[in-house]
Amino acid sequence: MKVLLIEDNPEILEAVAMILELRWPEAGLITTFFGGRGVELVRKEAPDIVILDLGLPDLDGFQVLRQIRSFSDVPLIIFTAKEAEVDVIKGLELGADDYIVKPFATGEFLARVKAVLRRRKIPESGAGIAGKLYIRGELRVDFTSMEVSIGNEVLKLSPSEYSLLYQLVTNEGMVLSNEALLEKALGPEHKADIEYLRTCIKRLKNELEKKPGITTLIFDVEGTGYKFLGA
Ligand code: CA
Repeated sequence: MKVLLIEDNPEILEAVAMILELRWPEAGLITTFFGGRGVELVRKEAPDIVILDLGLPDLDGFQVLRQIRSFSDVPLIIFTAKEAEVDVIKGLELGADDYIVKPFATGEFLARVKAVLRRRKIPESGAGIAGKLYIRGELRVDFTSMEVSIGNEVLKLSPSEYSLLYQLVTNEGMVLSNEALLEKALGPEHKADIEYLRTCIKRLKNELEKKPGITTLIFDVEGTGYKFLGA
């Protein structure tokens, strides 16, 4: 279990190191102050999760995120300052799985990290259909490898997006409420975060519908939830 922390504030580095040492000793921590080095470390060290501060001395955090996402779908959490909601939305749109606002509480930090890692695994409710495929038209979802493709093109989905798609596809034709989707797909700590859900759905829809000729598969149901209808 490897955690890569890209952060230039020594106090935060120390706090994270201490939290991991005390509460999660099996996690190894790799750190760097620099975005460029961080991207390199994602390649070299293949961390299990990346925590990325948006304000770094060399590169802009969004640039770092973009570079990482160009070759890796490693689970990634951004660190943001309290007042920067715009940053959160932008970060999620660029493929971050979640965010942690600084200063953070130990419990919240661990809960978010573990939730993002958990989403990477096959959702518990999926045990019964593990090994199976969902195929409708050009869409193919492999529940074992968690690979999603449209025609010949494999989509690049983050763990959160896959998790949302999984919930929608396995409940095809049913309306899933915002709250249910947030809790089941994104974790109980996101229960009331409708904006987060909206952003994740938007990215998922963009991926699913980017090929010309593919019509909408995910329907917004009067602001109360979402429904999936296979083409
Ligand atoms: Ca910083």
